[in-house]
Amino acid sequence: MEQTFLLVKPDGVKRQLIGNIVNRFEQRGFELIGAKLIRITREQAEYHYEEHKAKPFFGELVDFITSGPVFAMVWQGENIIQISRAMMGKTNPADAAPGTIRGDFASEVAKNVIHGSDSPESALREIANFFKPEELLTSTYLDGTADRSDD
Ligand code: UDP
Repeated sequence: MEQTFLLVKPDGVKRQLIGNIVNRFEQRGFELIGAKLIRITREQAEYHYEEHKAKPFFGELVDFITSGPVFAMVWQGENIIQISRAMMGKTNPADAAPGTIRGDFASEVAKNVIHGSDSPESALREIANFFKPEELLTSTYLDGTADRSDD
């Protein structure tokens, strides 16, 4: 079963789009296995966007993603990485088709509402940057199979 990391960016949280976005992934049949509303640190942001370090927009990107609360999520399902990228729409909302998240809610590339992993390798790396294993439903503690006799 494939997993991915999705993040409602500060603009999406501010505009109260969390529910709408969660609803889309639920309706598509995917399973939410971890979520939290957090303010991410500069270190986490710089690690998350490391591949863009040399780009001219890197500083603004890190400033923006740390500017307010974000809603970080881990979802799972068959082909979820490819399908969630399609549901998000193109990076630049000007190119994002209506019906996609960015196509419905965003109009500028710097404030494009959502992040989603683009490969299984980035999903693993991004999930580990934001979640401890015990925060995910797949952990034996949360799914009820762990031995809690010592609690
Ligand atoms: N971005 C930007 N200016 C650009 C290109 C990208 O501000 O010219 C931001 C945009 O918010 C995007 C993020 O950098 O979501 C990461 O870029 P990437 O190419 O990885 O796009 P994504 O995977 O988010 O679609």
